[in-house]
Amino acid sequence: MREKLAELERKAKHCKLCSLWRFRKKAVFGEGDEHARIMLLGLGPGYWENVKGRPFVGPAGKLLDSLLAAANLKREELYITNVVKCFPPNNSPGEEEVKICTKNYLEKQIEIIKPEIIITLGNLATEWVFKKCKLKTAPMSKIHGSVFLCGGNAVKYVIPMYHPAAALRNPGLRKILLEDWKSIKNFL
Ligand code: URA
Ligand code: SF4
Repeated sequence: MREKLAELERKAKHCKLCSLWRFRKKAVFGEGDEHARIMLLGLGPGYWENVKGRPFVGPAGKLLDSLLAAANLKREELYITNVVKCFPPNNSPGEEEVKICTKNYLEKQIEIIKPEIIITLGNLATEWVFKKCKLKTAPMSKIHGSVFLCGGNAVKYVIPMYHPAAALRNPGLRKILLEDWKSIKNFL
């Protein structure tokens, strides 16, 4: 298990399967407990993640840490990763990049780790997991903080959340985000 993940991570480091490799300083494969019950899924590396090679280590990561604390979660007990592993300019990877990267990495990470719950951070991760779970997509404003059953998968539940970076841009979302994370504490 650990070996399979490590092998995938080595492959991601030098991967050139899609065009995003050109923008990469360091690939951000993901990290955490390979037996995690809960996977956190973001969009892709931001500026600081690209520099450091670790997920959610910039300002959005700082806010995420306070949200995790509100839900009584520790980073070490989770597995944290992103839809794409290389820095996407404008936070906006193309459809083709998402397709190629998830097929080669995220799908395999989910197969290996077998998380029971995926908490999606933001629209892109939510849309991707909803599709995988055969769920109909809906606007984040309607679905944030709710628990959905994931169909036809080892994954049992998906919980969509606003992306922490969205709350940095729009402070009005901060309170909603905090309430959402607090509200799932008992479910988790
Ligand atoms: N935003 C993301 O979506 N992922 C990260 O790892 C950092 C910021
Ligand atoms: Fe490879 Fe994914 Fe990076 Fe594209 S984004 S180069 S598929 S690791």
